[in-house]
Amino acid sequence: MPGTLYVVSTPIGNLGDITFRAVETLKAVDLIAAEDTRHTKILLDRYGINTPATSYFEYNKIRKTEYLLKVLLEGKSVALVSDAGTPGISDPGYKIIRICIDNNVQVVPIPGPSALLTALVSSGKPTDKFTFEGFLSNKTGKRKNQLAKLKEEDRTAVLYESPHRIVQCLEDVLEVYGDIEIVLARELTKKFEEIRREKVSASIAHFKTNKPRGEFIVII
Ligand code: SAM
Repeated sequence: MPGTLYVVSTPIGNLGDITFRAVETLKAVDLIAAEDTRHTKILLDRYGINTPATSYFEYNKIRKTEYLLKVLLEGKSVALVSDAGTPGISDPGYKIIRICIDNNVQVVPIPGPSALLTALVSSGKPTDKFTFEGFLSNKTGKRKNQLAKLKEEDRTAVLYESPHRIVQCLEDVLEVYGDIEIVLARELTKKFEEIRREKVSASIAHFKTNKPRGEFIVII
């Protein structure tokens, strides 16, 4: 019998944000596949979890997927975790999940935090229908096209962005949408958590004078 792949959500910052079931699962499995084992070790130490961990990240995922599949087909159980939140959302998790399904390995989700829902529900923007775009393209033309398509929608849009590209992203939003009200969620659940609800031009002005730090979510 093949083993099971558990897709385990972990905190997006505050280490207290983990479920009992996630901790039990991380203790019980044979192996943890983590995006960054050093990062995950902080969480494992906090909860006294001694399960061995191996890395599974963007640049080794093809080789590591073969290894993890072999382990699973031998009947062992593996927990997949990412650096933050729910594995498979804008991180390399998708590939191993798909391969497991294709090889009749059972996939069991252990739900918990996800940055996009945490930001959406605190934004005050309509939540009845929304679209999640993840990270926009790093090519300017493509990024503006993506924004132009989003503008045609009548749904709230959620984007992920890094600190070094946030100002550029906001300038593109201003160009495509005009000076609309947006929400910027930064460092959610962490010490410097900040949720800004303001015009795009105000966010741009703020982050041109205050160096952007941490992780960002833009809600349009
Ligand atoms: N798998 C994760 C999830 O469940 O949301 C997302 C991983 S993705 C590689 C990382 C991006 O998520 C960051 O660039 C940022 O846009 C967003 N993010 C993650 N943690 C966050 C936090 N604490 N506050 C704000 N944004 C966060």
